[in-house]
Amino acid sequence: MRRTKVSDVLKSDEIGKEIVVKGWVRTRRGSKQVNFIALNDGSTIHNLQIVADVEKFGDELLKRLTTGSAISVTGEIIASQGSGQKVEVVAKAIEVIGDCDANEYPLQPKKHSLEFLREIGHLRFRTNTFSAIARVRHAMIFAVHNFFTSKGFVNVHTPIITASDCEGAGEMFQVTTMNLNNLPRTEEGKIDFSQDFFGKATNLTVSGQLEGELAAMGMGEIYTFGPTFRAENSNTSRHLAEFWMIEPEMAFYELDDNMDLAEEFLKYLIKYALDHCMDDLQFLSQRLQEEEKGKKEEDRSMELIEKLRFVLENDFIRLTYSEAVNILKDSKPNKKGQFKYPINGYGSDLQSEHERFLVEKHFKKPVILTDYPKEIKAFYMKMNPDNSTVRAMDVLFPQIGEIIGGSQREENYDKLVNRMKEMHIPAEEMWWYLDTRRFGSVPHSGFGLGFERLMLFVTGMGNIRDVIPFPRTPKNAEF
Ligand code: ATP
Ligand code: MG
Ligand code: MG
Ligand code: MG
Repeated sequence: MRRTKVSDVLKSDEIGKEIVVKGWVRTRRGSKQVNFIALNDGSTIHNLQIVADVEKFGDELLKRLTTGSAISVTGEIIASQGSGQKVEVVAKAIEVIGDCDANEYPLQPKKHSLEFLREIGHLRFRTNTFSAIARVRHAMIFAVHNFFTSKGFVNVHTPIITASDCEGAGEMFQVTTMNLNNLPRTEEGKIDFSQDFFGKATNLTVSGQLEGELAAMGMGEIYTFGPTFRAENSNTSRHLAEFWMIEPEMAFYELDDNMDLAEEFLKYLIKYALDHCMDDLQFLSQRLQEEEKGKKEEDRSMELIEKLRFVLENDFIRLTYSEAVNILKDSKPNKKGQFKYPINGYGSDLQSEHERFLVEKHFKKPVILTDYPKEIKAFYMKMNPDNSTVRAMDVLFPQIGEIIGGSQREENYDKLVNRMKEMHIPAEEMWWYLDTRRFGSVPHSGFGLGFERLMLFVTGMGNIRDVIPFPRTPKNAEF
């Protein structure tokens, strides 16, 4: 007989039907007459209760059903007596597929701290918290493709190995096939990349945007959804060295159209999570509430489901960077009245504490900040007529700070080349990018959503290492 998933059994109303379920034992408890085994197979947050007659199965077998052991159960669906689930299964046959030594197994039938679970990351898929997050993540991936497909966008895969440093922030992982112990040198003593595999220096992509722009400048509306690599040196709870980014790029969009799309997109994703992941979100919410109990009233964050609905129900506030700086300069963020990084006026880049202050304390709504000083933004953003600000937009969310970064792109060839000169970016190496401005250039815009930042928001988790299956951070690449 083929195995039925626990999620399907729990939804079933076929009382009396014989089925086979397979999974991992979470707990076993019971009396001299009957044992109750909580079985989970990763398909749902809920465990299936297996009822096993002690006399029928005997002590020897039942004792092997320790937390973490893998079993197969043939049994009959019955209506549940207890309050938890609608149905349970009375076992007719139990087979141990994989024994698990309870003395060695790191997971106990209790709640473990997230720090501990990070140390045993290879086993954390067996916990409710991480299986819930993995299922929500899957739903969000699907929702991303759904959203863009329904709007007629085409998904374009941009290269993972590239010769360009899109953001110019110098956080690249270099890629080479050369022997590091014996690197060829040029006459000036520099590493001679012309002898490398691609004949030039290459790195893992920090953003698919520039290539995405090439596609948009012929296909109209496209999006990328791929892995992105940044050698972020600091250990923050919002940065990974390897993360996933969704980057739509649209011809004929000005900044307002870009903001409208970003807001609609985020609301769609959050609504999708509420409509399709309620069991998992409720579980995560409850877990968070328990953690919040230890905190002071003013430090507690909003209940998860309430927080998600809050984004759906509010129009995002739109204001310029300089308006935001004026607000921040005059603000008293806490009892001490100061930010950790004081705002020194116009020109300073905002830290996540400033972004969160605007969203959580000042406006109490998501915020889109626009028109940043050109000095703190990348070369490709469209210059405003003031010649000092660019048509950038950052979407700021509660708990997260920057969730999206985007802009209208500079479509004017001369202005773009000038800006590149000012920033010492060699225009000759970017001839392919500049060609789209030479031949039939049009206004266009795009943005990047950090997928794990979205996941942080949707799951309410506090650390980005907990919303990606295999986090890559400094000194952390074990498996
Ligand atoms: P931040 O200011 O938080 O460092 P950024 O401005 O450097 O972000 P962008 O280059 O604008 O980031 O990238 C677009 C989006 O990608 C960001 O808005 C964010 O959601 C996400 N992102 C950027 N860097 C990381 C990272 N190291 N890990 C996870 N997500 C990231
Ligand atoms: Mg950054
Ligand atoms: Mg930023
Ligand atoms: Mg940014």
